[in-house]
Amino acid sequence: MHDDAGLQALREAARLSPDNLPLRQHLAGQLLAKGYLAEAEAEYRAALVLAPKNADITAGLAEAFVRQSAFGAALAALEPLLASPGYPPRLGVLAARALFGEGDTARAGYRYHEAVSRDPSVADADLAARLSAPPAPLYATAPPAAAAPADETSTEVEHSGLTFADVAGMDTVKEALRVKLLLPIQQPELFAAYGKRAGGGVLLYGPPGAGKTHLARAAAGELGASFVNVGLADILDMYIGSSERNLRATFELARRNRPCVLFFDEVDALAARRSDMRQAHTRQVVNQFLAELDGVDQNANEGVLVLAATNAPWYVDVAFRRPGRLDQPVFVPPPDAAARAAILRILCRNKPLAEMDFDAVARVTDQFVGADLKGLVDRAVEVKLQQSISAGRPIPLSTPDLLAAAKSVRPTAVREWMATARNYVMHANDSGAWDELMPWVKGKW
Ligand code: ADP
Repeated sequence: MHDDAGLQALREAARLSPDNLPLRQHLAGQLLAKGYLAEAEAEYRAALVLAPKNADITAGLAEAFVRQSAFGAALAALEPLLASPGYPPRLGVLAARALFGEGDTARAGYRYHEAVSRDPSVADADLAARLSAPPAPLYATAPPAAAAPADETSTEVEHSGLTFADVAGMDTVKEALRVKLLLPIQQPELFAAYGKRAGGGVLLYGPPGAGKTHLARAAAGELGASFVNVGLADILDMYIGSSERNLRATFELARRNRPCVLFFDEVDALAARRSDMRQAHTRQVVNQFLAELDGVDQNANEGVLVLAATNAPWYVDVAFRRPGRLDQPVFVPPPDAAARAAILRILCRNKPLAEMDFDAVARVTDQFVGADLKGLVDRAVEVKLQQSISAGRPIPLSTPDLLAAAKSVRPTAVREWMATARNYVMHANDSGAWDELMPWVKGKW
């Protein structure tokens, strides 16, 4: 109680002086010490914006990540500092803990011993003991033979009527998906000639509502493949403890319906939820997911294309991005004015329309993503429907209707998303993973 009152006072003080670095750092340290990990993470991140590359803050942030089992994120935070020779040895130990958490015992051992040889006081007896233990198996053991029938998952198979023609704008993204997913299947000889084979998954990332799910569904239709849409958070929540079985069943469902696009939404949930799940169990789910992605044998996933989506790519474990897994990140950007006009045109298709000036609506919907535009059109249609019922005849939708609706709908989180992305691009991009975002985060949002 007393502790929390002290914390509360610190929080309040930090809120009143957001630029007071020592205060924020102190608050973050207290939060970390008391186990408020997510909040500590947020505080350290805010502090890092004030003092980029500060070793103490980076160490705090990395520890908050490690203790939430967000090992990839911890490594991403540490990377900029680890790159310079003579980095503080305790950062090396933190990196070792993260690498060990990822199952990369060899690199963890290297980092650990390098750090301790420079400063023996940073030694971590527990980690040292675990590093010298015989290696744990890379993957969780196969589920018991009496595993539940594959149909146990409530996931359904869809046959998407959508194609890329239903996805407005995003020409670069569509082209990237064509090359990565469609061409290898449509022209296997050409790919084989260059020693490349179809396979591996694509990680779609971008602000919420920008059209990742829509795009995945359209890719399935474009390919004439079935579509299985899985919310990973659902899989994890459904029956804690049966998550591995649910995952297995989902992959089996996709394999029985090949060619199939298997779409995992919120793939970061695997990392983000680790904090509130028993760690050993979570590790097993992650391992199971990776094992299924890799396929039990080489042909297990033939005809199964895995697309995953996330609004928070920085939380996705680097283990997921290794070759053959979700090794191809594709940024799904917020639409520009021309794309917004095209999305509006698609959303208004098959509705009674007056002559429309979609460009005019696009001009007043800066920062709207696809989902926001859908909300806008739905609202305008509702109003029109009411008017038509009163008038007793259909009144076509017009440009002023959309302009009026635009005034009453607020865009969702693009600006906040870009601010977060900017942090990662500026401060945790030494591996170049977020290069594609650079021109975007430099724009005005
Ligand atoms: P995300 O998965 O990125 O959160 P969604 O794919 O769910 O976003 O997008 C929400 C809705 O917005 C879609 O159902 C679709 O109606 C519309 N939408 C988004 N992007 C486009 C687009 N490029 N073209 C047409 N409609 C789009």
